[in-house]
Amino acid sequence: MAALTVPFGVSSRARALPELDGKRFTVASSKGARLIDTEGRSYVDYGMAMGATLLGHAHPAVVEACTRALANGPMPGFPNDIEEPAGTALARIGGARLTRATFATTGTEAVHLACRIARGATGRRLIAKPVGGYDGWFDPLRFGLVESPEAERTNNRPVKEDTTLFRVNEIDDVDQLFDELGSDLAAILVEPMLGNTGCLVPDRSFFEHLTKRAQENGTLIIADEVMVGLRRGVKLVSEDLGLTPDLATFGKAIGSGVPVAAVLGTPKAFEVVDNGQVSTYGTYHGNPLVASAVLATMKVLEDESAYSPLFDWGAKLRAEITAAFASEGIAATTTGFDSVFSLWFTNQRPRTYDEAQAKVNPEAMKLVSDTLRRNGVIGLPTVWGRFFVSLSHGDAEMDITIRAFREAAHELAR
Ligand code: PLP
Repeated sequence: MAALTVPFGVSSRARALPELDGKRFTVASSKGARLIDTEGRSYVDYGMAMGATLLGHAHPAVVEACTRALANGPMPGFPNDIEEPAGTALARIGGARLTRATFATTGTEAVHLACRIARGATGRRLIAKPVGGYDGWFDPLRFGLVESPEAERTNNRPVKEDTTLFRVNEIDDVDQLFDELGSDLAAILVEPMLGNTGCLVPDRSFFEHLTKRAQENGTLIIADEVMVGLRRGVKLVSEDLGLTPDLATFGKAIGSGVPVAAVLGTPKAFEVVDNGQVSTYGTYHGNPLVASAVLATMKVLEDESAYSPLFDWGAKLRAEITAAFASEGIAATTTGFDSVFSLWFTNQRPRTYDEAQAKVNPEAMKLVSDTLRRNGVIGLPTVWGRFFVSLSHGDAEMDITIRAFREAAHELAR
């Protein structure tokens, strides 16, 4: 293959699909639930821009709002008249508690900013996050997904660049964390669903215990909802699952594919932003283009009934997938929610990080992904097999998908 100017032909390794049958996969256009590659082949998409296109690719309301914003000048470089309405619309996710909002450009930055706010508000330095959690690609916070052998240890717990780790669904580990490092602990940073560990959803009792210990200790809770935000309705997924966050981070779905992220917070957590003790910066943050994308997205989702076809569709898909494998005598199950889930070749869903590591089956997942791809269905190139469903997946996509999964189940059984 000729050398590429852009390493791997893509600027985020998470998006690099391997060649299949000697061909690279390059997208020429995307619309609704479909991708068209450079050879004109159509695919039903379950990567959905790593979850960013919850409404479907190129949703007309978002395209129209953004086109207007572009024509009107996308970067006035001063306060603009769309940012505040977009913030107000977005803050509906936070309900009665998380009523304040500020924008960033990527989920990584939103998490970075939330940590900065938590450190400012508590005067403490340590952030604790789960082993297996992904909260963006900045060095201190990549720690956890990739356990680092060079990490220092404090009380036998790994600490690197003011970040430490705990294990989800292990209450003793959380107790030990607070007992040993509590006085230094600014925030617990946690995804309501560990997307990069196979859509693992911690137990409600675990989240309630985590909240109790954090509140008793004066430690803030940052819910990282970059992946799950808006996927279960216009509400906090974390709160639904038993956490009581002080701050929550969003990205992906809030902009429908336009790069925008945000931090929501309680008025108390935002005091340090209001009084200037913690500053927010960013040339592109909240510009009219991205604010228009947020406003248009929130408008589509204003009507709560928009969600029920998505949930029904996702539930049907999950059932059809497990049935396809069962008909070939293969045990399969899913974790996550109806709008985003992972597939496992086992009867018993994993509950902990260690169980997830033990149950993941990269070889089977690769064979399934390759067969799906040959049959016009494409997903993320991940061993955990994550599937994102959108509001634009319909009957035609369901038929193609079921046929492709039956083919994949058959291949796996051979
Ligand atoms: N947090 C979570 C939970 C994510 O899933 C991601 C991205 O996948 C991020 C943060 C980082 O977001 P971005 O890729 O927009 O920087």
